[in-house]
Amino acid sequence: METRYLLVLCAAVLGLVTAGKHDIYSRHSVYNVQVRNKADQHLLHELEQQLELDIWQNGVAGVREAQIMVGPERQREFLQALELHGIQYSLHLNDVAEAFELHDRQMDTWRATRRNRKVFQDYPRYEEVNEYLEDVARRYPNLVTLVEAGKSYEGRDIKYLKISTTNFEDKSKPIYFMTTMIHAREWVTTPTTLYSIHRLVENLRTEDTDVLNDVDWIILPLLNPDGYEYSHTVRLWRKTRSNHANNPACLGVDGNRNFGKNWATIGVSPNPCSDIYPGPEAFSEQETRNVRDIMQEYLDRIQLFMDIHSFGKYVTFGYGDESLPDNAAQLHLVGSAMGAAIDARKQPQAGFYLVGNSATLMYNTSGCAQDFGQDIGIPFSYTLELPSYGYDFRVPPTYVDIINEETWHGIAASARLARSFYRVRYNAATRS
Ligand SMILES: [Zn+2]
Repeated sequence: METRYLLVLCAAVLGLVTAGKHDIYSRHSVYNVQVRNKADQHLLHELEQQLELDIWQNGVAGVREAQIMVGPERQREFLQALELHGIQYSLHLNDVAEAFELHDRQMDTWRATRRNRKVFQDYPRYEEVNEYLEDVARRYPNLVTLVEAGKSYEGRDIKYLKISTTNFEDKSKPIYFMTTMIHAREWVTTPTTLYSIHRLVENLRTEDTDVLNDVDWIILPLLNPDGYEYSHTVRLWRKTRSNHANNPACLGVDGNRNFGKNWATIGVSPNPCSDIYPGPEAFSEQETRNVRDIMQEYLDRIQLFMDIHSFGKYVTFGYGDESLPDNAAQLHLVGSAMGAAIDARKQPQAGFYLVGNSATLMYNTSGCAQDFGQDIGIPFSYTLELPSYGYDFRVPPTYVDIINEETWHGIAASARLARSFYRVRYNAATRS
């Protein structure tokens, strides 16, 4: 072989060895930032736009640190701004690309030893999720109905399950509606809805017969399949994959800023390249229209809507502009029952859940699923931020089992309590 060909071959092989899947995050760092008050929160959100920060977790003033990713060119400016305002910080990840490469290797090792794992014990791909939904519906036809919500922007089927011991015909039962994976990179969320299906259908335990018999369930595990599949290439992808700006470099809409309540008023960016772009109009995305349509179809019976995210250990309710729904006390009570039920089972190293109005607790937002559900008349409409056990988006599979289990107890507790309020609602509806 000629020397120059050999050199080209060597370079190619070297390229294969050194090029990493997560190279676009090379030298991106993540900082823990101590927010002291609303002014600090506001500053961080201003810097988010100016310095193209990626806020991984909103902190709670004086209680919980924010977690923020910054690119290599903006790092100095970012830290100077924090220091100028006397804001304390510490380094969480020095190089995000390296952290995700390591996580991938650990996942591969774990998978090699767990060949008989179940679909909810890993991060299943789109096809595997749909196969599981179809399989459960096929095996339990008297309990489970598979529904096609429609196609995603890129043409993937979006499916959900209806679970009912009375074929959804008993109007005296409330409906619990759960969604996961509106934000693509929050991988640990879909296992929790799949595990809930497992606990309700395949592995019902005596202590949970009431939540199956007395509640009907609508469970949508993969709200944004396009974004989710894309996040297996670009790991921190958050949005849908639609193209509104006619710019292939800036695709997608933040699904959880695209709902029609206070749409595009606060906590968003008009820049289509931004991770918090709310879309050209409310419900511009098929994926959010699916959720809206389910809510409206069953509005008289949906008692509780739970949109599950990662990460932070929060149960929050509306509204994102700091105003409170009339039944805020009940919302706080049911949210607390959920958080407390999870806390009772969590591992010691996890912190406690925080419960409250999303804007008061963290920061103002608009166009969220939680707010839309509340606004159109769902009595208990929540966002749940799952724990990460210190691992941010890289939750190891050993913690997926723990999070599934503890979260299920929270879901069951909130179902029981929300159901007790439904009797009043149902009696009033049938009297009039
Ligand atoms: Zn999220």
